[in-house]
Amino acid sequence: MIQTDILIIGAGPTGLFTVFEAGLLKLRCHLIDALPQPGGQCSEIYPKKPIYDIPAYPEILAGDLTKNLLEQIKQFEPGFTLGERADTIEKLSDGTFIVTTNKGTKHHAPVVAIAGGLGSFEPRKPKLEDLTRFEDNALPI
Ligand SMILES: Cc1cc2nc3c(=O)[nH]c(=O)nc-3n(C[C@H](O)[C@H](O)[C@H](O)COP(=O)(O)OP(=O)(O)OC[C@H]3O[C@@H](n4cnc5c(N)ncnc54)[C@H](O)[C@@H]3O)c2cc1C
Repeated sequence: MIQTDILIIGAGPTGLFTVFEAGLLKLRCHLIDALPQPGGQCSEIYPKKPIYDIPAYPEILAGDLTKNLLEQIKQFEPGFTLGERADTIEKLSDGTFIVTTNKGTKHHAPVVAIAGGLGSFEPRKPKLEDLTRFEDNALPI
């Protein structure tokens, strides 16, 4: 069971900056994201596109924004569960929460922040009977 002060669902720009703000209050964060890397839409859809509406950056690539956010929060040592979708949130009698992913990883925290943006990205899979043999780096037999 992964324990943390604040569990953040979504490691896009919003989730990543949440780590910084929580860190200032000396709270540790753990992020869950369905994508295999942090950055949300910025890293998954348009890392090479320039953005013009970030304060103090007249122009910055979306990929560089993600890189900078990760650099900014490194000092607070966040944990990551990547490549897994948060599927269920269970509230315990003491008011804390257990969040379980589609791969069964359990996380326990007194606070859950949802920074899910437009929702979790799901690949459009080809209709193959034995597709699971090829998923998650599995080699074909
Ligand atoms: C093509 C394009 C161009 C854009 N250009 C600009 C621009 O120039 N300037 C600008 O300000 N904005 C731009 N945007 C919008 C900007 O990307 C979004 O506003 C921003 O990414 C929102 O950040 P976020 O962290 O809130 O959400 P997201 O970036 O959507 O991140 C949310 C994350 O949560 C994860 N997630 C959701 N639900 C779950 C779950 N149940 N379990 C696990 N993970 C979950 C997702 O996988 C995702 O990684 C653009 C968007 C697109 C698509």
